[in-house]
Amino acid sequence: MNAPVITATGLGRDYEVGGTMFAKPKIVRAVAEASFTIAAGKTLAIVGESGCGKSTLARMVTMIEEPTRGSLTIGGTDVVPERWSDLRTDVQIVFQDPYGSLNLRQRVGAILEEPLKINRPEMPAEERKEKALEMIRFVGLREEHYDRYPHMFSGGQRQRIAVARAIMLEPKLLVLDEPVSALDLSIQSQILNLLMDLQERLNLAYLFISHDLSVVRHVADDVAVMYLGRVVETGTKEEVFAAPKHPYSVALLSATPNADPKAERHRIRLGGEIPSPLNIPDGCPFAPRCWKAKDICRSDLPDLAGNGHRAACHFPEN
Ligand code: ADP
Ligand code: MG
Repeated sequence: MNAPVITATGLGRDYEVGGTMFAKPKIVRAVAEASFTIAAGKTLAIVGESGCGKSTLARMVTMIEEPTRGSLTIGGTDVVPERWSDLRTDVQIVFQDPYGSLNLRQRVGAILEEPLKINRPEMPAEERKEKALEMIRFVGLREEHYDRYPHMFSGGQRQRIAVARAIMLEPKLLVLDEPVSALDLSIQSQILNLLMDLQERLNLAYLFISHDLSVVRHVADDVAVMYLGRVVETGTKEEVFAAPKHPYSVALLSATPNADPKAERHRIRLGGEIPSPLNIPDGCPFAPRCWKAKDICRSDLPDLAGNGHRAACHFPEN
């Protein structure tokens, strides 16, 4: 088997907030620890509610931010800040909101060529333009779009531009942080189909971040469910969707519209709020909201040991 495109081991990130002259800053544990691998041509979907640490994970993987702990390898190379500039072209990111991530004063051609100008300064201008036009066609836009500005496009087309920019440098891994969450439902499936088509043609690995399980069901090979900065369950899409083990996954899935309306589904409403990451409870972070919690859950943190389909829970579903 080929080496994975990416391996993360115990990756975590803390932030200090609210320090003043008189008070020590508090620590926000945005990602406690995350471990996963993704092979070429495969998609790992990260799911979880807002605030569980998905975007922080994305920023570590794309080398926008340095992890506080843990390690990361890309294509077998250890990711350390001294290597960032070599490795960055292998990992590209597409954000939720292309309006925020595209430079609105640049024409599409300039947007697409910029990564080449920076990273392949020796490439002749003609060749750069050729490559930009090729990518424009590749993502389903038209050559005349080369001279237009981002505001002249629809949301879905803008996301196509963001995807085209992300693949200009022929990365190995694309991080997709809620790439369709800002789009209308009908446009979502077009962009998802584009992403799946690109993945197959370019053998890309995807780290696909979404809070929306119906999107994940569409695109994932493997799934990691996050809660309060931790991966609480992981397995293949089939395993996690058909037989979730962690009560949090069970609750999340129960709240997702079912493709089969006749299927019996008991919707579980989670009580309580997600605890603040400034104040993570002892034991299992999900215990305060869990209908199965017992004493051990409030004192001992369950781990995610083992291989294959697994959950960090003292009393997993069978
Ligand atoms: P998600 O993408 O799943 O919504 P984030 O990774 O954005 O979650 O945030 C995880 C937690 O870390 C949140 O509680 C958020 O407030 C906190 N956080 C994220 N970035 C920072 C930062 N730069 N400084 C302080 N806290 C942060
Ligand atoms: Mg986010």
